[in-house]
Amino acid sequence: MQRMTNSRRSKFATCRKSAWFAYELRLRPVSDGKALCWGLAFHDGNDALSTGDDPLARIATHADKLNAYDIAALQATTAAYAQHYGTDQYGGDPIRSEVSFRLPLVNPATGHKSKTFEVAGKIDAILPNAIRETKTTGSSLDDDRYWRRLLMDPQITLYYWAARELGYTVETVYYDVIRKPSMNPHLATHVEKRKYKKDGTPYANVRETDETPDEWYERLFADIMKRPDFYFARRKTPRTGQHVEELQYELWDVAKDYRQAQLNGRWYRNVSRMTCDYCSFFSICHGLTAWEPGETPEGFVCLEDPHPELGATDASSTTNSTAPEDTDAAAAVEANSDQRPESIGERAGAA
Ligand code: SF4
Repeated sequence: MQRMTNSRRSKFATCRKSAWFAYELRLRPVSDGKALCWGLAFHDGNDALSTGDDPLARIATHADKLNAYDIAALQATTAAYAQHYGTDQYGGDPIRSEVSFRLPLVNPATGHKSKTFEVAGKIDAILPNAIRETKTTGSSLDDDRYWRRLLMDPQITLYYWAARELGYTVETVYYDVIRKPSMNPHLATHVEKRKYKKDGTPYANVRETDETPDEWYERLFADIMKRPDFYFARRKTPRTGQHVEELQYELWDVAKDYRQAQLNGRWYRNVSRMTCDYCSFFSICHGLTAWEPGETPEGFVCLEDPHPELGATDASSTTNSTAPEDTDAAAAVEANSDQRPESIGERAGAA
């Protein structure tokens, strides 16, 4: 069974070719690796906070993938986050943290489930009567358009729906955004640029040694605690049944088109400034780089699992598996793999 995550849905909706690179060829730019490791370590620290473990020790377990300064920055950010919001953050401790889910993808029009895709994801935390999502960003937290976009973000709706499907009472969604530190550790002044006073002591702006990771931790922690609103923001982003219904149709429609692209082997491009200028696959998509599908192009890695953000999926979270399969529709698509997407789209179920 293939997994339809929010990332896969979003990539396919943005540009089919980019979904082909990411999920069919399983390619990722090497440069994405650090951001992914940062995100995984941050979420791991947050998970420890939720479960009562030592978050700093948990973050330190990622030292094989991140350098000592990154680890210190993650630890400082997490420690400050915990101190800023306190332990009783939402009227009660999290019930579960880092909850992986796999749920049937169901055609909302027929109640039949896909035999190709299931819906998968990972919820940051399930709280009493709510869920929490946590994101890190390099941008300002004052961007009003960012918060307005969240009001219609399908990922939030997906996790809201999934938590309810898993049997939890969810009335709202807390959305925490954490700004990644833009400060850097102080490095020693280049030897040729060091200037000394007559008594041999260095001028104030000269460093003879790098700041240590411990010093960096202390300086960053102090900066975050001095101006927490620069680093942390939390808002409620409620969802309704209408959001959920729209999402279910969207997931079904995207999955149906996705399956059609797989069967036809056709993944058309969506070329524009708004897509290509932000695309990780630009360097191999434009055709000027010598590269053949099946090879791993320079600067990329080929992943074994195209959903590394999910980690090991908790099979016990799967629920609602009793919906009948949409066998007829799926068989019809597979028997007519060159059928035009428009004609497939006329039927209610084909994913
Ligand atoms: S470079 Fe443009 S056309 Fe190519 S995969 Fe990326 S978004 Fe799509």
